[in-house]
Amino acid sequence: MRDERTNSARPAQARTHKRCPACGDSKPLSEFYRTSSGRPSGYCKPCQRVISRRARRRRTAAVRAPHRRPARGVAGRAGG
Ligand SMILES: [Zn+2]
Repeated sequence: MRDERTNSARPAQARTHKRCPACGDSKPLSEFYRTSSGRPSGYCKPCQRVISRRARRRRTAAVRAPHRRPARGVAGRAGG
């Protein structure tokens, strides 16, 4: 009579849902980006965006400073 136990023991969400370790929510796989190998990304879309944005900022911040050069006057010589 008590068959409910088997249902709660193992959630059937495993295939269609994935838990995002960043926000802790179990979301449908459609909420996850796909990697080039076809597997769902580790984090859900909103979290993945935040994470990748942070990572990119670190890179660009390091590149930006030393590569910055003042534009030397192109407009100086007239006639010649
Ligand atoms: Zn998330």
